[in-house]
Amino acid sequence: MTTRIVRHVSELTTNDPSLGDFSALGRLFDAAFVVDDEQVLWVGPDSEAPDADEEIDADNRAVVPGFVDSHTHLVFAGERSDEFEARMAGVHYDGGGIARTVASTRAATLEELRRGTRKRVAELFAGGVTTVEIKSGYELTTNGETRALEVASEFSEEVTWLGAHVVPPEFANNRDGYVDLLTSSMLDSCSPHAKWADVFCDRGAFSVDEAREVLSKAQAKGLAPRLHANQLAHSGAIALAVELDCASVDHCTYLDDHDIDLLSASATVATLLPGAEFSTRSPYPSARRLLDAGVSVALATDCNPGSSYVTSIAFVIALAVREMAMTVDEALYACTKGGALALRRGDVGHLGVGARADFAVLDAPRAAHLAYRPGGNIVEKTFRVSLA
Ligand SMILES: [Zn+2]
Repeated sequence: MTTRIVRHVSELTTNDPSLGDFSALGRLFDAAFVVDDEQVLWVGPDSEAPDADEEIDADNRAVVPGFVDSHTHLVFAGERSDEFEARMAGVHYDGGGIARTVASTRAATLEELRRGTRKRVAELFAGGVTTVEIKSGYELTTNGETRALEVASEFSEEVTWLGAHVVPPEFANNRDGYVDLLTSSMLDSCSPHAKWADVFCDRGAFSVDEAREVLSKAQAKGLAPRLHANQLAHSGAIALAVELDCASVDHCTYLDDHDIDLLSASATVATLLPGAEFSTRSPYPSARRLLDAGVSVALATDCNPGSSYVTSIAFVIALAVREMAMTVDEALYACTKGGALALRRGDVGHLGVGARADFAVLDAPRAAHLAYRPGGNIVEKTFRVSLA
């Protein structure tokens, strides 16, 4: 196995508090690190750099752990820029456009879905993302959801069945019939192809009781639960996420003190998706309340064609810093280690010894440039252990 040393790293963020300045971000300056084809072998000052088979000169650039984008909807066809324009002109977002993407995705060929997903994964990768969660949810039939999961599996091991995204038009007058389908033949067909199950539990989507039924049955089939919650309104969805020990509850735009107390006493990560608030001109979630209460916070793109057609984690970091009062370091941590926690992964999101050798070299001396220079891609090069 080949060893490689990365030398002359101006600022190395490891997210390992036993390293460097012993902060949560475990930061070293004028650093070096050694990897092999799979994992990190050594981290330390450049002056103590050991020999390796190959050398990469970072030339006084910053290095960060590969970003973990823990919430995307990459398998879709079509686009909805007209809705975005209408929202910017004052129309309120209510999630109703999802049915349009369902229609265009159902009409797409397998190769069209694969090509579109590959393009979006490549955009994420160019921006430093090395682990990406991908949901189904735009077909809403047994065969279609299974097909979407198979496409997602070609690009990621973090695949989520989101058959409970919305009630499809053909079940508009028969919600119970759709929940029956979800929890019987669709789940039977989809569960071998997914690791996670998710439900859009919100106004206009699924109720708390419906979400509990779908996620409980999915758990019985071996899928681990996560939940879309409180994007559009207050509900009991946060309590449900904690009750079911969801790895993550996502959006969290509307939270009361009880929700925050529940999250802070749980292992459930609050995943914030500010690209959605940006793209729907909605109030941003209160990251400060969550962080100050000790809740684990992740940031993700929520890449989807309706409410957040975003493939740049740097843009998400910039939004979190500018609009949600997160510090640059909090935002960087939330989309690396926070994303890993939201996927219950210990091997990614950090660069401690033994971590997967996934990292991004920035064309900048400090990681703060991710937020400081919005709008351009300052990721010089992304390194990732093979991910299909
Ligand atoms: Zn989503």
